[in-house]
Amino acid sequence: MANNKLNRMTSRDDDFSKWYTDVVTQANLIEYGPVKGTMIFKPYGFGIWELIMQNLDKEFKKLDVENVYLPLLIPASLFQKEKDHIEGFAPEVLTVTKVGDKQLDEDLYIRPTSEVLFSQYFKNNIQSYRDLPIKNNQWVNVMRWEKNTRPFLRTSEFLWQEGHTMHSTPQEAQEFARTMLDVYTKFANEYLLLPVVPGIKTEKERFNGAKETYTIESLMYDGQALQSGTSHYLGDNFSKVYDINFQNKESGVEHPYGTSWGVTTRLIGALIMTHSDDQGLVLPSKVAPTQVQIIQIKNDDEQIVEVSKKLKQDLMDTFRVKIDDSDKSFGFKISEAEIKGIPLRIEVGPRDLQNGVVTISARDNQEKTQVKLDEVVDFVTKEITNYDERLFTRAKNNLATHTFEAKTIDEYEKGINTKPGLYLVPFCGRVECEEEVKKRTSTNSRCIPFEYDHSEEPCFNCGMKTTIKAYFGRAY
Ligand code: AMP
Repeated sequence: MANNKLNRMTSRDDDFSKWYTDVVTQANLIEYGPVKGTMIFKPYGFGIWELIMQNLDKEFKKLDVENVYLPLLIPASLFQKEKDHIEGFAPEVLTVTKVGDKQLDEDLYIRPTSEVLFSQYFKNNIQSYRDLPIKNNQWVNVMRWEKNTRPFLRTSEFLWQEGHTMHSTPQEAQEFARTMLDVYTKFANEYLLLPVVPGIKTEKERFNGAKETYTIESLMYDGQALQSGTSHYLGDNFSKVYDINFQNKESGVEHPYGTSWGVTTRLIGALIMTHSDDQGLVLPSKVAPTQVQIIQIKNDDEQIVEVSKKLKQDLMDTFRVKIDDSDKSFGFKISEAEIKGIPLRIEVGPRDLQNGVVTISARDNQEKTQVKLDEVVDFVTKEITNYDERLFTRAKNNLATHTFEAKTIDEYEKGINTKPGLYLVPFCGRVECEEEVKKRTSTNSRCIPFEYDHSEEPCFNCGMKTTIKAYFGRAY
């Protein structure tokens, strides 16, 4: 049976897309919902999201961000005030028009994001410079009706956090939007082991309603990019339209300056596509719902049961530990732990116990080590750190071997079609030019990195002289 399960897993080098779906479903993360593009998060899948929420929320609180909850529904008239914003979201917004069989007086939009409601809330709660900065966040669901959906990566309803702040100066707001991108970068690196590329979105890719969009881009195993989190500097765009004012220290009246920032359940898709393999899910330890699985080779042997319990007791203060004491076959238990991406496995069997040892193996390299019973806690502590380091190193190598440069559109087109990845190109930054590139290659810019060589060169597509360089690539 164990092998049957494994046999059904497509190889990621044969068909990456099918492999991804196999991992998502066989690791028991989700089931598809009845409406297109929706998902039922099963306990194991939701467990990963819970760990993301708990850890990221701590980082937000360090910056004095406070959590709130705003409503799901937005009156259409309110949404329509910010023209750019509504233009960008209109094709994806779901509208509630009826209650029972009666038409509502006004259409209500299901939030695709909440800048509009936050604006109204801020308007009521900001009067003076003393009320600023105001820093709020909410952990909620949003809906965007997507044409092509894929579990976690692009769903019609997704879970996210959306942070919204208001500041008394543009500098402070812009700095905060950058600080939040740093928080995302650090979180991606340290918790998710994703070596992301931070940068600024081009005008074409900028969030509708923002003055500047900052992004972290990650690169999947197959060389395709994934926008993994965004932080927007909104300037006074929303505060002007929604009439948010504050009295400054000199008793003059000004509009405050805003930011908004979000990461979503897409991060789980990024994890899977970066770390997992042909045996199933591979999870970074900090977001693994179970970090150590104790597997009993027999579940009716008194000594095995006792030792398992004692090991769990010793480990559970520091690690998330589970005992698999089911009567499933040993092989099945092993393959189940593999498919679910549990970082470390401790096998407790009669022969090992005669020698006072257990066998510990890591999910990624499958190397087995016999460890004395009284050294298990020390070993697990060290090995889990090594395990995370190996995952991060592999992901960094994948990014490095898929990062290229191109000087002309021909060179870029040939490259992207034969060696997918991120291509750093000299780029003029113009919307029309990027549209041409998109039309020709079905790819777009990922970001303008924060650091690069600013020497003047011809734009890779139109030839106009430019000092800007941007990453282009194919993305999920
Ligand atoms: P935005 O509000 O458009 O800046 O989006 C915030 C973040 O949500 C983006 O950085 C994406 O990572 C993520 N995202 C956008 N659309 C979806 C979707 N349909 N499903 C899951 N995540 C999404």
